[in-house]
Amino acid sequence: MRIKILGSAAGGGLPQWNCSCANCAAARAPRAGIRVRPRTQTQVAISADNRTWTLLNCSPDLRSQIEVTPELHSQPGNNFRQSPITGAVITSADVDCIFGLLHLREQQPLNIYSTAAVRDIIRNENSIFEMLEQAPEQTNWTEFKPGARIEIGSQSGIGSIVCHTFTTGSDLPYYAGKGRKSSSANDGAVMGLVIERGNSKFAFVPGVREITHEITERLDSCDLLLIDGTFWSDDELIRIQGGGRTAREMGHLPVSGATGSIERLRGLRRPRKIFIHMNNTNPMLNEESKEYRQVRDAGWEIAEDGTEFVLPHQISRATS
Ligand SMILES: [Zn+2]
Repeated sequence: MRIKILGSAAGGGLPQWNCSCANCAAARAPRAGIRVRPRTQTQVAISADNRTWTLLNCSPDLRSQIEVTPELHSQPGNNFRQSPITGAVITSADVDCIFGLLHLREQQPLNIYSTAAVRDIIRNENSIFEMLEQAPEQTNWTEFKPGARIEIGSQSGIGSIVCHTFTTGSDLPYYAGKGRKSSSANDGAVMGLVIERGNSKFAFVPGVREITHEITERLDSCDLLLIDGTFWSDDELIRIQGGGRTAREMGHLPVSGATGSIERLRGLRRPRKIFIHMNNTNPMLNEESKEYRQVRDAGWEIAEDGTEFVLPHQISRATS
């Protein structure tokens, strides 16, 4: 199984259009004491057969992410209109996770996998996504229940990828949450995935508010972990913006602190541990910072755009 990280930042990317925080400023122009790599918004693509690819979420940067990834380019064949991208698993209805579906609207058949909560928000509350249903065969939507095991078929017949789903939060995106707080419609609002191919497993958990014992056990069975690294501290945005919500209120467990994800996952033995979905304000993105050093010393890595992993043959980087 090949796993490509096409984007690794949280919503807004790095730099973000309206931000001049230390990281965003340094990503635009080098500054002494700050070393920050620009990043596009989180996007992962996986393949079991080297020919067809499944996207994990669809980021707002998807079009440019496809263009810098030759494996995802259209290949001329019987038909000029062709794509190796055959489907997408959607873990939440956040703008960052679904906006890129609009880049895939040009009448190309697409398999979409999501919970009912996510599908209903996309299909029933946002008429713009009817662009994905201009023809009956354009979109084939498979609904899964939280906790379900789904199989992502491979068109080449070389084998399928099995995907185990689990709940990691219940927050609806702001645009859909008004008037439906605490409704059972929130079941399946935010999901994590453990993706299995043969004896290899990796976890993709871009949004998690709390790491339970059950989640820890799932993660410890994996070879590779890509998990929520959005915020360093709970009050990170409040301090930078002068107000707003905490990391946890936004559905993201912070990385640092006694109850943060590094501490919570200290007991993991098996997986290579990598943070993904970093907000541009996160100080650990600065490779000269003490926070970066702390993350690396704890045995963690920070995802970068363009990195590929191959399972099971090697967990180390294929390209960088
Ligand atoms: Zn910024």
